[in-house]
Amino acid sequence: MRKLISHACLSLAGYPYNLDFDFSVMAQFQNFSINNLGDPFIESNYGVHSRQFEVAVLDWFARLWDLQQDEYWGYITNCGTEGNLHGLLVGRELFPDGIIYASRESHYSVFKAARMYRVECVEIDTLVTGEMNCADFKSKLSRNAGRPAIVNVNIGTTVKGAIDDLDRIIRTLEKCGFRDRFYIHCDGALAGLMMPFIKQAPKVTFKKPIGSVSVSGHKFMGCPVPCGVVITRLEHVKVLSTDIEYLSSRDATIMGSRNGHAPMSLWYTLNKKGYRGIRKEVQKCLRNAHHLANRLREAGVSAYLNELSSTVVFERPQDEAFVHKWQLACEGSIAHVVVMPNVSVEKLNDFVEELIGERQRWHEGGGFRVPCVAKDIGQENCLCGVHDKKLRVV
Ligand SMILES: *Cc1c(COP(=O)(O)O)cnc(C)c1O
Repeated sequence: MRKLISHACLSLAGYPYNLDFDFSVMAQFQNFSINNLGDPFIESNYGVHSRQFEVAVLDWFARLWDLQQDEYWGYITNCGTEGNLHGLLVGRELFPDGIIYASRESHYSVFKAARMYRVECVEIDTLVTGEMNCADFKSKLSRNAGRPAIVNVNIGTTVKGAIDDLDRIIRTLEKCGFRDRFYIHCDGALAGLMMPFIKQAPKVTFKKPIGSVSVSGHKFMGCPVPCGVVITRLEHVKVLSTDIEYLSSRDATIMGSRNGHAPMSLWYTLNKKGYRGIRKEVQKCLRNAHHLANRLREAGVSAYLNELSSTVVFERPQDEAFVHKWQLACEGSIAHVVVMPNVSVEKLNDFVEELIGERQRWHEGGGFRVPCVAKDIGQENCLCGVHDKKLRVV
């Protein structure tokens, strides 16, 4: 099993998991059943917990997004999905007759939340970059002006790493007369932890009228077990919580039993890396992602990279064995590589060389046509040849 797992790590490229870590010091805790049952800020009667670490990690994230210690509430979730389920639930509890608005490139957990909570969900079109199309948002808002808006804002979409324009979304809501009848949840599963370390990136902050932010702990930060963080305003949590005598705690989390190992790993990573360490990793990823996109284009492969992202999108390889070997995530005619800190330039070069070689082979076998990805990443990024011909005819 150990051999199988470490082999699988070697060629990982498609999923956004940072595997660049060494958590051997955590091994000593494997024999404990650490459970942060219930609320992180209220001790339950179960004594084997790691709330001190959890609260320290939450404080760090609250500060990152500009909330004071006495202004926020949050917890370490089991994953980014649980953070989305929580954020959108707060929105629904504040506005029981609200409508959820989310771009169609939002993560499937957002649409799952809408189904679970039986809230009407309106899908917004996206631009070719993958960002929410604010013109479409505006027209759909005006059609439902009588009902509050619960908006999911993507801080990095899953497939293209697109950042929705938070400021423009807020302006649109205000212009359409929604003033204090909206709730914004920011889904920052991957890029939520990258944006604060990129100077020119738009700022996610509670100084703006947002209600909650969630990130995955095992994505950019790197953690040996899936986990995540969700932060909301303390005043909001009142709409969720009920006191539970059995736990002698308050019930405001989605899950009851909660992984107590995860906060210790997150705490350890944050302390080891610090702001400087994370910033360096972010810069390295952006640099390497540019390198990959350039190499692909030089080789005649259609590729696209959003400015503030390390997710490189390109034409879907025609061979399932290749996709499987590199563990690529595919959707329709495109695939992507998410350049994480553990993905080195050498690995990217190996990947490009193998792709070019294989592509040649697919060509020789006949029946291979360079796929057209103009619909997904725009004509100017599509190198299938069709668009050039069209231009020549004109
Ligand atoms: C990965 C991802 C999620 C879900 O995170 P999990 O930790 O896998 O549950 C949510 N939103 C976006 C944009 C993601 O990329």
